[in-house]
Amino acid sequence: MSEGNGGITLTAWVRGEVQAGGWVRAGAAAAERLRQRYGADAVADLSLGQPLEAPEAVRLAFQRAAATVRHRRFGYMPNLGYPELRERIAEDVDVPGVTAQSIAVTVGAAGAISIALRALVEGGSEVVVLAPYFSEFRLYSAVCGHRLRVVPCGDRGQLDLGAIEASLSDRTGALILNTPCNPSGHVATEAEMRGLAELLEAHRVRCSRPVLLVVDEVYRRLLYPPHHRVEPFTFYEHTALCRSFSKDLGIAGERIGYLALHPSLTSPENEAGLALCQRALGYVNAPATAQLALLELPSWEANATPYRERRDIIAGAAAAAGLEAAECQGGLYLWVRSPWADTMAFCAALAEHRAVVVPGVAFGVPDHFRICFSVDRPALQIAARALAGAAAMDEPRSPASSA
Ligand code: PLP
Repeated sequence: MSEGNGGITLTAWVRGEVQAGGWVRAGAAAAERLRQRYGADAVADLSLGQPLEAPEAVRLAFQRAAATVRHRRFGYMPNLGYPELRERIAEDVDVPGVTAQSIAVTVGAAGAISIALRALVEGGSEVVVLAPYFSEFRLYSAVCGHRLRVVPCGDRGQLDLGAIEASLSDRTGALILNTPCNPSGHVATEAEMRGLAELLEAHRVRCSRPVLLVVDEVYRRLLYPPHHRVEPFTFYEHTALCRSFSKDLGIAGERIGYLALHPSLTSPENEAGLALCQRALGYVNAPATAQLALLELPSWEANATPYRERRDIIAGAAAAAGLEAAECQGGLYLWVRSPWADTMAFCAALAEHRAVVVPGVAFGVPDHFRICFSVDRPALQIAARALAGAAAMDEPRSPASSA
């Protein structure tokens, strides 16, 4: 039904967000169009952060989970997940004082971030994000009534502590730190974590309002030596870790992750609040089969080697093409500076060479683009040829400059 016809239409907010964003999905749609034109094997879709296929052990665990017979196998369960899974996650977090009561099993990290922002941050607060940032943070924040405050990072994705400090005010409710970062690949160092904790603590003393530190660790098991994880709980107590198995176990579609609260935030009251937020989001609890599959797996360790090998190939290809990229210290992405002033035009040139990437505007940094390298090797070869081919082209003169 057309607008003005008395029919139900999308809300203004949803319309605005649909028009403004969706770059990653738009990239995937563009790749589909190219595949239809040139054939599936001729296109490298480097847009969506799709993990590699789940390992055999994970697939078998899902099969066993599906066949599990137990009381109320298909019934409702506690909103925060099966108690034995929460116990096991608490053990896996492996920080003294973190117990099953600290854990909410969620629908991916997306669910974990969403309930943290809803349960522990007063509506209408500012949420600080560090650019380049994962664009869904905007949506998770907006549905809680929060506004984003975007703070740029350094050139290679390193934290700019001065800029972060300057962004804090009595309206700040949370800061989201994503490490390893999608898209920059930066892994927060101990010095950065300490510095961040110190300035958040100083802010708390000044404003008598703690800022919730939401640490998005979706890629924590895809780390490339010598870079290593730093434990955020050691530095700052007002911290929630948001994790998932989407990427490292290759089960993004199964929607399973969790929130882990710092021991100082662990209480029956907060537990009840998180449970309520799962209900308020409408998903009520994380999928039962995925929870059972996690219990079936003897270990949740991931094999980062296939990712590291792909990172090396794509980083080598970008360097050979003369492109400037940040070192990918963890995760699935290479973050590349556009050699052209018009990044969108360069992304279009890459698409002409049959490689689809996501322009940096999607992450709040328009002069870069993101390559997702968790694709098969033939696609990496197409990507390497596309990078070389597009980088060898001259930037077309814009109509304004040729006028
Ligand atoms: N956070 C970051 C930085 C991500 O890249 C993603 C997915 O791409 C998510 C959160 C959402 O993860 P999940 O699939 O576990 O909800």
